[in-house]
Amino acid sequence: MRLKFLGGAREVTGSSFLLDFGYKILVDCGMRQKEEEKIFLKEEVDAVLLTHAHLDHSGLLPLLIKNNLLKGNVYSTPATKEVASLLLFDAAKIQREDEEKGKKALFDENDIVNLLKVWETYDLNKQFSLGNARVKFLDAGHIIGSSQILIEIEGIKILFTGDIGCGRSLLLNKPDVPKEHIDYLIIESTYGDREHPDKPPEEILYEEITSLGDYSRILIPAFAVGRAQEIIYGLKLKGLDIPVFLDSPLAEKVAETYDYFLPYLKPEIKNKWKKMGEMFSIPHLEYVRSNKRSKELAEDRKKKIVIAASGMLEGGRVMNHLPHILKDENAVLLFIGYQAEGTLGRKILEGERSVWIEDKEIEVKCSIKKIEGFSAHSDRRGLINFINNLPFYPSYIFIVHGEYETQKRFADELRIQKFYPYIPSKEEEIDLKGGAREKIIIDFEKKFQKYGMYEIMLFTGGILKDDNLIRVISKEDLFEIINEEEKRLKHKEKVEIPVDIEKEEIESITEEEFYRELKNMREEKILSKSKLQEFIENASPGIDNLFSWIRITKNKIRFYPDKEKNDMVAEILLRGINSLREIAVSIAEKVLEET
Ligand SMILES: [Zn+2]
Ligand SMILES: [Zn+2]
Repeated sequence: MRLKFLGGAREVTGSSFLLDFGYKILVDCGMRQKEEEKIFLKEEVDAVLLTHAHLDHSGLLPLLIKNNLLKGNVYSTPATKEVASLLLFDAAKIQREDEEKGKKALFDENDIVNLLKVWETYDLNKQFSLGNARVKFLDAGHIIGSSQILIEIEGIKILFTGDIGCGRSLLLNKPDVPKEHIDYLIIESTYGDREHPDKPPEEILYEEITSLGDYSRILIPAFAVGRAQEIIYGLKLKGLDIPVFLDSPLAEKVAETYDYFLPYLKPEIKNKWKKMGEMFSIPHLEYVRSNKRSKELAEDRKKKIVIAASGMLEGGRVMNHLPHILKDENAVLLFIGYQAEGTLGRKILEGERSVWIEDKEIEVKCSIKKIEGFSAHSDRRGLINFINNLPFYPSYIFIVHGEYETQKRFADELRIQKFYPYIPSKEEEIDLKGGAREKIIIDFEKKFQKYGMYEIMLFTGGILKDDNLIRVISKEDLFEIINEEEKRLKHKEKVEIPVDIEKEEIESITEEEFYRELKNMREEKILSKSKLQEFIENASPGIDNLFSWIRITKNKIRFYPDKEKNDMVAEILLRGINSLREIAVSIAEKVLEET
């Protein structure tokens, strides 16, 4: 089985991954920032799974249909289909308008109509089959309809997080955490090196607006899907007495979908706003429907808040307002979302004093502000918590959907936490059976490590399965292999496996060291009595899985049940190589008595 990273690799946009196991599944088919990379897929695929409606995940789907590259169907949640079709028709309209300016359209409305004919939907948590794969959508809490995608093929489980929410949404549920062991985790990293503020987003928005002092008008560029609705709801909660204009017909249509896609909403929201349209109704709110009205408003300097798409100042109604706002010393341009590299939003945010809008150079005179916290993406802490909350650590983590520098920092953080992250590059293809997991079967930790005062890992080391031989290796060798594996994945070269250590040697060292270290830790008050007791209880015979992987960190003991690992344990016991569990328990009991 092979996984190819077609897009969203070391970049934020263009998410697209091809999973090939004889049957070809494309996960997401996103629009790219760079013009020349827009047509990326050359081969036919059997099916497409879509995580969510945002165009950087769905934007090239009509092109797939136009170029006859899809044999089967597109699958998503019902809300994703609904919202994506709104976004795609809107994109086709913009492309048609651009065509008049000499730009070639990638697809038209007809392609979208044909796309919708082959688009099937499944609710969250409903399992379905594609080829010999079993597929399930899990709530991602990112935008309405958003899902993570869990795919199981011949016992191997792969989870694509898609864009994953941070639980800060005012309206949407927290992301679901899968309950099964994930072999390969493909995780987004937009905010992989940053943390969101602790304060609720509506408080931050309210404080920012009330602290602005004397201003004429505020322009908030916002994504039509998700952000615009969250802002309006935030304003509703705070009850500001300023006229608000939602200048995005698309955002208004998306807001309407909230009324009938209740499963994605928080229970308290579902119960509170049962009547259609109530959720987003606030006094002084006008939905700006015509372009004429939009232009009229743009000229009007009266005090108001205008929320308009697109969120990164790349076209849309926001462009009616932008030149007027930029020139107005008393106006405020308030960014609330991520501004991708190369966008006009990023340029202004980074302090460019004059910008080009439709052949006109415009000086930036207004105040430029940015607030954090309205993000639809998990921050660093959220992403790491997500991984830590999985019942079993993933065997391998691929970091996608982020700027490369951010991804490197995120990967470093994961390595510190003893995960095996990898940052694939674009077009890179990885054999999912040839990962580090194949060789490192068991990680029982031979040496003790101090993590602050109380976080302790027991038995660092590894057991290596190599042809028919089982080798016990040191922690250093284990990391060596992981590093070599990474290089191999990068260069696709074969590597030599480091020489093993004599097994007898390991066993005698293990017992002695174990006793000495345990005793030291008790005497130095690193290891508490209850922690030791906990270890003994969990290590008692009958819990075979203990052997495969023990980690005592943050008062949690995690087990790694995995058929292959259990078979290995059985084999080891049979060969009499190691009976560490019983030995470990008896030593621990001895130390407990003595100290
Ligand atoms: Zn998204
Ligand atoms: Zn995205």
